[in-house]
Amino acid sequence: MSDSFKGGCQCGAVRYTVTAAPMWGGHCQCTNCQKFSGTGHASNYLVPLDAFNVTGELSDFSYDADSGNKMTRYVCAVCASPIYGVGSGNPAAAVVRAGSLDTPADFEPKALIYTDSAVAWDGEEKSLPTFPKMPQR
Ligand SMILES: [Zn+2]
Ligand SMILES: [Zn+2]
Repeated sequence: MSDSFKGGCQCGAVRYTVTAAPMWGGHCQCTNCQKFSGTGHASNYLVPLDAFNVTGELSDFSYDADSGNKMTRYVCAVCASPIYGVGSGNPAAAVVRAGSLDTPADFEPKALIYTDSAVAWDGEEKSLPTFPKMPQR
């Protein structure tokens, strides 16, 4: 990924710009990420919080993460799209949801973490038929 990129929520009320290269990116299969993503994992990248500039109204929710840290998640107050989180273990970093990127294809995952809580259907199930979009009946 470059060192300058943009993203936002689904409805457009929340927009952000990042002015630094991501420090890390990956897929997390922990149970918290499963709950808030509504599927088997969340895809996140880390950037310095002071290089993350967000506009628009956000709702936040704090919880105790598996790591023992306090995590606060921020979602669009209008459409509830997950945007980013900040953890007490690394308060200088924004953990940004890769799907919020204007060009999500630019995301470069380096690892799959918390595979202990992975579910079998969330993975590289090469034997399954694949569909580029919704299957047609
Ligand atoms: Zn929104
Ligand atoms: Zn997680």
